[in-house]
Amino acid sequence: MAQIVVDPNGLAREKVTQINGKKFHTPTMMLTYSFRDNNPRPWLAIPNCSVMTNAFDILRNKRLAKRIATNGIHSELGLTNEICAMDSGGFQFISKGEEEAINPEEVIDLQIASGVDIAVGLDYPLLPNFSEEKAAILAKKSIANIQMAVKRIKNGTEVMPVLHGNSVAEISNYFTKVKKLGEFKIWGIGGLVPQMKQSFPSHKRYFKIIDKVIRARELLDSLEGNPLLHIFGVGSPLAGLLFLLAGADSIESISWIMNAKYFLVYQDKIGARKVSKQTTMCTTSVQWDSYSCSCPVCKGLPIDQVEEKMKLRGNEGFRNRALHNAFIYQQIAAEATKAIEENTLLSLCREKLENHRFFKGILHYTIDKLQKCR
Ligand SMILES: [Zn+2]
Repeated sequence: MAQIVVDPNGLAREKVTQINGKKFHTPTMMLTYSFRDNNPRPWLAIPNCSVMTNAFDILRNKRLAKRIATNGIHSELGLTNEICAMDSGGFQFISKGEEEAINPEEVIDLQIASGVDIAVGLDYPLLPNFSEEKAAILAKKSIANIQMAVKRIKNGTEVMPVLHGNSVAEISNYFTKVKKLGEFKIWGIGGLVPQMKQSFPSHKRYFKIIDKVIRARELLDSLEGNPLLHIFGVGSPLAGLLFLLAGADSIESISWIMNAKYFLVYQDKIGARKVSKQTTMCTTSVQWDSYSCSCPVCKGLPIDQVEEKMKLRGNEGFRNRALHNAFIYQQIAAEATKAIEENTLLSLCREKLENHRFFKGILHYTIDKLQKCR
């Protein structure tokens, strides 16, 4: 049988979407940001980042919440033209067993007052250990919250509904309910983080996510206006590339900052590697002999000095690693954008992942699925 040819960009498309009076260029890799005194703000050094903040994080700190409501989130973060989204924090509340404590109106009011560009509807991720009954109640609440957000938010902020479900069929059901609530320029798929966290990485978990992304893309393509698809919590930017290939427009990860905490720096095509033998992570060390980076931390320095900067303990080392990681993530996203313009995203994915011991299998699975759905 003749092999069906996959589009050289898979299901990825370059788009410019008007969001809150700004041009949102996709694909994009959003940097997840939480408000801690020591967390660096890479967008001050790296242009064109987009940022995902979190209402849970902000509401826990009353003074911060008040300042953001008064001055706006863009001024608080020093953002100029960058797109800033605000997650509801449903996942954080539910992880702490506090889903009853959260007031959806308070979240929406903060999203309105902060002038955020994209407000994520307050949603409750469906963890695999929930009973069917609990999952049904939470899904109903999430959908009611999207409806409330649509009614209350009138200031140009876009509401992003988030699709949940443990299977492709559940995602489709959820979509059917949400699309009745309004027209959305951007949709999300959530609940991936708990799946990613399971004890050790397995290909099969990624296969399920790829299935969901491809299905969500098909569903969104059935709507008017070319809506965007955002994937929450992709972990590795290399996984992110495959989600773009499968039809996502926007991906997001907090691992730039989590890795920095654990003394890990990101090496393109290789992944997160530890900077010193003293760190306890069982990851292998950075390949310093093949290391090359032009981020604001590493640029122009001899390798031994880069190594010194990355190994530093305390806040300074943490900030160096985080800024470096954010830069590499943005660089991978920029390469993906360029590849999509040149109609070569599939080749880029092959180049980066074909020799990767973990992502190789997921790359092949994605290509196989794309052949079947065309
Ligand atoms: Zn660097």
